[in-house]
Amino acid sequence: MIPIIIVWGHRINLYKLGWTARPCPRCRKVQAFECFDRAKQSHVYYIYGKEKSIGRVLVCDFCETGAGFSMGSKDEKALVVDSHWNRTKPLQELVNSTNPRLGQVPISDKPTRDELFALLESVNERSSPFKIDAGGGFGLGAVIGAPVLAVVGLLLSLIGFSTFDALGSSIAGFLAGIFVGGTIGAVKFKFDQSKALAQEILVASMDQKSLTLETLQRALKHYPRRLKYASAGLAQLSNL
Ligand SMILES: [Zn+2]
Repeated sequence: MIPIIIVWGHRINLYKLGWTARPCPRCRKVQAFECFDRAKQSHVYYIYGKEKSIGRVLVCDFCETGAGFSMGSKDEKALVVDSHWNRTKPLQELVNSTNPRLGQVPISDKPTRDELFALLESVNERSSPFKIDAGGGFGLGAVIGAPVLAVVGLLLSLIGFSTFDALGSSIAGFLAGIFVGGTIGAVKFKFDQSKALAQEILVASMDQKSLTLETLQRALKHYPRRLKYASAGLAQLSNL
């Protein structure tokens, strides 16, 4: 008998729809949000079927914090998207076309402190090492750790510190090295990647929003709590 294994699953695709204006709870002011259609596509043996819209994803254009609305929810039904607006146009135009009940929104050319705080919080969240996959780091750490601890094991047996013979001690050291080296490698990889990612996000944000490093550093100093990963990223940028 031939066993039958059915391979099935799905993928999620995001499609740009346009923009909408709404208050950002993090920035504490009305912002432009980029809107995406979240579509789910099921497959059987990787043959994909029709896509089905399952909701909307909104991303604040300043702090880049995202929100999701499921299809048919109150928020999704009330959502009005403008597909013609772009960043060169005034925010008020987007308010008028997508959320006129917000009325006249105050416009300033400089970001407020709340906006800067929101951006730093979001950078900190997005560059957290606990969200980074550390597969590569484990492999490298194990490759370095295994022979090092194998030699340590061998030396321990030679000076009589091991209950195993020379070969047994080396093998035990080798196995321990895979585990210890791999773990150290994975942790180091996550933290290195986190710093690189924080820098990358910060540079992209400063560029897009024409912010200086000093502006962000000043905001960070006034931020009431500690933002570990965002401040590590900023510290590294100022050392360049
Ligand atoms: Zn925001």
